[in-house]
Amino acid sequence: MLPIWMVFSWHCLKKEMSELIDLKSLTLDELKNMLADWGEKPFRAGQIYDWIHKKLARSFDEMTNLSVALREKLAENCELTTLTAERLQESKLDGTKKALFALPDHNMVESVWMKYEHGNSVCISSQVGCAMGCRFCASTIGGKVRDLTPAEMLDQIYALTRMNGERVSNVVVMGTGEPLDNYDNVLRFIHMLTDEKGLNISQRNITVSTCGIVPNIRRLAEEKLQITLALSLHAATDEKRREIMPIANKYTIAQLMDACRYYHDETGRRITFEYSLIAGVNDRPEDAKNLAALAGPLNSHINLIPVNPVRERTFVQPDHRAVLAFKNKLEKYHINVTIRRELGRDIDGACGQLRRSYKLENET
Ligand code: SAH
Repeated sequence: MLPIWMVFSWHCLKKEMSELIDLKSLTLDELKNMLADWGEKPFRAGQIYDWIHKKLARSFDEMTNLSVALREKLAENCELTTLTAERLQESKLDGTKKALFALPDHNMVESVWMKYEHGNSVCISSQVGCAMGCRFCASTIGGKVRDLTPAEMLDQIYALTRMNGERVSNVVVMGTGEPLDNYDNVLRFIHMLTDEKGLNISQRNITVSTCGIVPNIRRLAEEKLQITLALSLHAATDEKRREIMPIANKYTIAQLMDACRYYHDETGRRITFEYSLIAGVNDRPEDAKNLAALAGPLNSHINLIPVNPVRERTFVQPDHRAVLAFKNKLEKYHINVTIRRELGRDIDGACGQLRRSYKLENET
């Protein structure tokens, strides 16, 4: 049986408003069907796919091995989503670059380019805004505006690749938005990003981070992908988690742990738990002990993130010594733990802050 994302016909991706076909969101098979309907030869689909997803063309005019007539027909019937960087910030500390991209409907999303020893990593957004309401997060302050299309997620990576002239080896879906609240588009995005006829990024080099939408963690497990699932846990008891993450009112930690175990069993992949350390909220020795009790049996990895200060929020980071003490405590319980390297602290590091500051400037 074909996976559901392949059954999806290209007709479904016609834009409701403009009736233009969202060409960059089409798989190669869908592109072949479209061109067959147009009476074009099948190999044209391969050429167009190659221009879009390998050569990262920004316009139909660049597709010089197509006839002028076909290029004109494409331009009349299709749109080629290309994002433009409205603002670009570069860290003087570590070369991290943060881009604020304008979408075709003038909404804004942000993406981050990070340089590591093992290669370049890009952090992308999956929605405009976010509906999840985590109390420490800037992305959710104005709520969710809309989901991003597969093309809009892909082009964050394509645009940064073009800008930097270097290959991307890792992609993390950890920017603005809740990827499992935009499930079908994120799944299609992953399949296209890992397509050998596109950028051919290994599934193992993709991380999807979720606040914990249990039914969709289970659904994702059944796709049997080799991507890493990161779970934003941030608290080790339901009571505490409900104080900082509204999603905790919907799913208990016990349900979350069951879903994580299921993901691990189905895919063989180890889960990462993200834990934003907030002074006086979740950084006591007792919190470390409860966290270890959850993480230990799952053989998971914990990523500690000292909370990034957000203008509209009052949460503060524990000092460095307290962060180290929390890490040591977890290690005493034989938990695999790292402190997230803080990149781009000098350029609105926290999730959603660049878009937020742009909005505020343009509203006043
Ligand atoms: N919605 C997804 C992905 C987006 S946020 C999720 O919840 O996982 C990516 C990660 O950054 C999440 O772990 C999120 O909880 C964390 N985060 C958001 N704002 C933060 C802040 N101000 N400081 C530290 N971590 C933050």
